[in-house]
Amino acid sequence: TPATTPSPGRVTVIGTGYLGATHAACLAELGYEVLGLDTDPAKVADLAAGRLPFYEPGLAELVEKHTAAGRLAFTTDPRAAAEFADLHFVCVGTPQRRDSMAADTSHVTAAVSALVPHLRRDALLVGKSTVPVGTAAALQALADDAAPDGVEVAVAWNPEFLREGRAVEDTLRPDRIVVGVTDPLHEKVLRELYAPVVDAGVPFVVTDLATSELVKVAANAFLATKISFANAIAELCDAAGADVVALTDAIGRDARIGHQFLSAGLGFGGGCLPKDIRALMARAGELGVDEALTFLREVDAINMRRRSRTVALAVEECGGSVLGRRIAVLGAAFKPGTDDVRDSPALNVAAQLQLQGAHVRVHDPRANATAARTFPTLGYADTVEEAVTGADLVLHLTEWEEFRALDPAALEPARRVVVDGRNALDADRWSAAGWRVRGLGRPAVP
Ligand code: NAD
Repeated sequence: TPATTPSPGRVTVIGTGYLGATHAACLAELGYEVLGLDTDPAKVADLAAGRLPFYEPGLAELVEKHTAAGRLAFTTDPRAAAEFADLHFVCVGTPQRRDSMAADTSHVTAAVSALVPHLRRDALLVGKSTVPVGTAAALQALADDAAPDGVEVAVAWNPEFLREGRAVEDTLRPDRIVVGVTDPLHEKVLRELYAPVVDAGVPFVVTDLATSELVKVAANAFLATKISFANAIAELCDAAGADVVALTDAIGRDARIGHQFLSAGLGFGGGCLPKDIRALMARAGELGVDEALTFLREVDAINMRRRSRTVALAVEECGGSVLGRRIAVLGAAFKPGTDDVRDSPALNVAAQLQLQGAHVRVHDPRANATAARTFPTLGYADTVEEAVTGADLVLHLTEWEEFRALDPAALEPARRVVVDGRNALDADRWSAAGWRVRGLGRPAVP
C-alpha cells in the first residue's frame, strides 16, 4: 500500500459546479488552501474573480471572501492542480446518459485521466460525485495505469449529501460524513481534514468503497420513494374525495414516519433524485439484481404522473383547453432556495402548457435567467404582479417563501383561479380573497 501522506493544508477540488464550488469554498472556510479545477473557462473566470456563477445562499460571500484572501483559487489547468496538492476531490457531474437510464461517468473518468499523468508525488483522489457502485474501483485501476513511474495514486470515496439551498450549512454541519477507503491511512487523512467538522459532533462513518458509493444512492432512493409514496396516496385521495395534506400531517406525527419528504404535490426534480434512482436501477440490472429495485420504476412513474396531473388540472380549470389562455407560472427552480432548473417540474409543466397553446408567463425569484437559458421560448416576468395580472389561471409550482407570503387580495388576474402544485398556499386565505384553489390530492376550495 502506498504511504500516501498528502500535505495537510492544501487540497484541490475538481469540478466546481453546485457541489464542487460549495466544497471548495467551505474547505477554504475551514482554513485550507484550495485550488478549484474545472473545464468550463467561463465558470473558472467567474469564480477566480470571486463571483459565484449561480445562486446558493451564503456561498457567494464565502467565494468572495476566500478568493480575496488568496486562500481559494481556480484554474482550468490540470497540471496546476497536480502540482498544487496531494489530496484531490473529484466533484464533476454524473448526469443521466442520453441513450439509457444509466449514469454517464465519462466526466469522472476524464477528470482522473487529465490529472493523474501530471502527478509527481503520491496522491489521494477522493470522489464526491454520485456514481454507480464499482466506479471507485474502476478509477483505481485507471489511476494505476495512468500514474507516472514511482508515483502511487490511491482512490477513496466520500459521497456528498448536501441539499441545494442549504449547501453551505450541510457542508459545514452535515448529518454525517461517510468515507469509503481501502487503507486505514486514507481514513486518517480524511479524518484529519474534516476534524473541524467532526469535532463538533458529526458522526464519521467508515466503509469500504462499494458501500460508500451505495450509501449515497440508497439515501436518495429512499427519499424519492417517500415522496412518491405520499403522491401515490394523493392519487387515491383525489379519487376518494379525501385530503392528502391532512392525511400526511396525521401519519407524519408517527415518529417512525416523520413529516420530512412526505409532502404530496408536483413531485421531485433537479439534477440528483431523478437521475440517481434511474442510475441505481440501471446498475442493479448490470449486477443481475434488477428485480430488487423494480419498485423504483413505480417511484419514477408516480413522480412523472404528478406533472401530467398538474397539466390536466390546468386544462380542466380552463374549461377543457388551454389554447390561447394566459397562464401565470409561479416558480421555475426545481425547488426553492436555488436557481437550478435541471429537470424542473415547474418548467416541465410550463412547457407542456405552452405546447398546448397557452401563453405562459413564468416568474421565479431567482431562476428566471437559468430558466430562460433552458426554455428560451417561454415568457418570463420580472415580478409576480407582471406574471399574474390579466392571467386566466395561476399555477404555483415552486414553493418559495415569497409566494406563500403573497397577498391574494392584491393580485389582479382575469380570473381568480390558482392551481397549487405544492399544496403550500393557505387555501382558506386565498379562498377568502375570492380565489378558487385546486390542490393535488385534495378537494377544490371552494
Ligand atoms: P454541476 O453540473 O453543477 O457541476 C459539475 C462541474 O464539473 C461543471 O462545472 C463541469 O464544468 C465540471 N466538469 C465536467 N467535466 C470535468 C472535467 N473533466 N474536469 C473538471 N471539471 C469538469 O453538477 P453538481 O450538481 O455540482 O453535481 C456534481 C456531482 O455531485 C454529481 O455526481 C451529483 O450527482 C453530485 N451531487 C450533487 C449534489 C447537488 O445538490 N448538486 C448533491 C450531492 C451530490
